[in-house]
Amino acid sequence: MKILLVDDSTTMRRIQRNQIETLGIKDIIEAGDGREALTVLKDNMPIDVILLDWNMPVMDGFTFLKEVRAQESYKNIKIVMCTSESEKRGSWRR
Ligand SMILES: [Mg+2]
Repeated sequence: MKILLVDDSTTMRRIQRNQIETLGIKDIIEAGDGREALTVLKDNMPIDVILLDWNMPVMDGFTFLKEVRAQESYKNIKIVMCTSESEKRGSWRR
């Protein structure tokens, strides 16, 4: 299984990587924003799972999600959106 971590926080990526590695999964790649993630994704297929931060500079997680879901070749990738925001009603609503 190959996992792509997309988060602008290197600390969050390190925490996620450490947790995933305890499950025995070692094939983990990373990107720091949605724009970089699109390139990393294209160059590293097949990828099984993406853990996707919502709030990032350059391209945010929701925009990345829409780009990925618009492409047939990525339809089997499981995407889990992550955020450290805790408000039930917040600025992310569109
Ligand atoms: Mg972030």
